[in-house]
Amino acid sequence: MQAVQSGQSQTNKVVVITGASRGIGAELAVKLAGQGYQVVINYASAAQQAEAVLAQIKGAGGVAAAFQADVSQVAGIKALFDFAEQTYGHVDVLVNNAGVFSVSPIQALDDAAIDRLIDINIKGTLYGMREAAKRLQQGGKIINLSSSVIGMNLEGYGVYTATKAAVESLTRIMAKELRSRDITVNAVAPGPTATELFFQGKSDELVQRLAKASPLERLGTPEDIVKVLAFMVGEDSNWINAQVIRANGGIV
Ligand code: NAP
Repeated sequence: MQAVQSGQSQTNKVVVITGASRGIGAELAVKLAGQGYQVVINYASAAQQAEAVLAQIKGAGGVAAAFQADVSQVAGIKALFDFAEQTYGHVDVLVNNAGVFSVSPIQALDDAAIDRLIDINIKGTLYGMREAAKRLQQGGKIINLSSSVIGMNLEGYGVYTATKAAVESLTRIMAKELRSRDITVNAVAPGPTATELFFQGKSDELVQRLAKASPLERLGTPEDIVKVLAFMVGEDSNWINAQVIRANGGIV
């Protein structure tokens, strides 16, 4: 006999998702809330989009709250965890999803672009991991967003790729450092995925070329990546630790 699914499985697990106003993070927030998780939707500046994600979740009977915080600021990360704890009592899972992207040959990079990529992609992830290590419940999970571009060495992607390489190193090392805490640390590394971040600054020709590059000959969708992230958030992935899961249609 098959159990009837109401669409809202019961769990008291609390998931904080950074950068959940748009793209992969927003899609993940909606999916996890639909599975009964209590979700904190973090965003940097897109308040209206974050509110729209929140309204969608609440309209479907889910439990969520939105909180503005810049993950590249230590105070922002602390405030985000304080908010989650005050709202739901504890935090079980941190998805370090917030990220920015820009393309430029290394020799032409301006200082502000270098700082932005490093501040948000590396420091933002690192600050989140550090705070999560202090605050996650036993059985907790930290899931970082890397990128499959690490395996591709694409021209113009130098600093972005380097920031994600740093994220992968932090992931593997922190998983070991949390020995005996029953907390796993993993990363998911999407390939080209159809979000604002991907389309930004790319010609139609480049978009088409990257879309055809995987053997499946299409771009990933946020939903493709969210299925993997939801698996990593859920209990079926409990034995996966210190790993980077590439989800890219076989591009690399
Ligand atoms: P996106 O659509 O551009 O969304 C980025 C999200 O990050 C937004 O919610 C944005 O918030 C938030 N954000 C940016 N800076 C922030 C900050 N300082 N503090 C807090 N939040 C901040 O990006 P996406 O494509 O969904 O990417 C999500 C993650 O996947 C990123 O880490 C990215 O590197 C990774 N990834 C993406 C692809 C791809 O092809 N799309 C491939 C591989 C990896 P606001 O809306 O408020 O600005």
